[in-house]
Amino acid sequence: MTTESSPQSKKKRPFTVGVTGGIGSGKTTVTDFFASHGIRIVDADIASRMVVEPGKPALADIEQRYGPEILIDGGLDRRKLRTIIFDDTAERKWLEGLLHPLIRDQITLELGDAESRYAVLVSPLMLETSQHELVDRVLVVDVPERIQLSRTMSRDQMTEEQTRQILDNQMKREQRMARADDIIDNSGSMARLHQSLDKLHQFYLSLA
Ligand code: ADP
Repeated sequence: MTTESSPQSKKKRPFTVGVTGGIGSGKTTVTDFFASHGIRIVDADIASRMVVEPGKPALADIEQRYGPEILIDGGLDRRKLRTIIFDDTAERKWLEGLLHPLIRDQITLELGDAESRYAVLVSPLMLETSQHELVDRVLVVDVPERIQLSRTMSRDQMTEEQTRQILDNQMKREQRMARADDIIDNSGSMARLHQSLDKLHQFYLSLA
């Protein structure tokens, strides 16, 4: 399933499970569980910040396009960049064209280093980007919207309106589920989640 786009991606990676889901669905909670069982977690959000760290070529490209005002304390002003691309499709496409291949290479590199029985890639944009090509199975963490809202609001101290805005910009629940190999229902207690995850972990060990 892997698309080999760079020399880095030729490095052999372990059997990889891709974890995705909407904001507040429980991706971090799920990956914390796998990590506690010794499974290597690669986080696409972390990779996406790494590729624009000070000194990285992508940051220089961004500075060249938007000027030094796009920097804050020598680093990328992500909030300003988000504002620029928010309703400008051409700029968003330019930025995605620059960053997505770099993020993908970074993820590939990290997966290649994983030494656990299988590895997990967690990404909120697994299905919206080509990142799903880097995994063998897609696990969607699912909760009904009202739970998603309330858990996100209490975690991030956001209003319902702010949370809804993020939610509305993400892939719809049904679309995401339609592309899942495995779905975990996280609408119950933590204990119930861990029970389901125990089973999934055994299943992934048997596949790996
Ligand atoms: P994501 O990483 O998908 O944004 P998190 O794993 O951070 O989601 O979960 C969102 C919030 O909901 C966190 O505060 C987390 O502790 C809480 N949470 C996750 N699963 C459960 C659960 N089954 N029961 C109660 N709270 C949960």
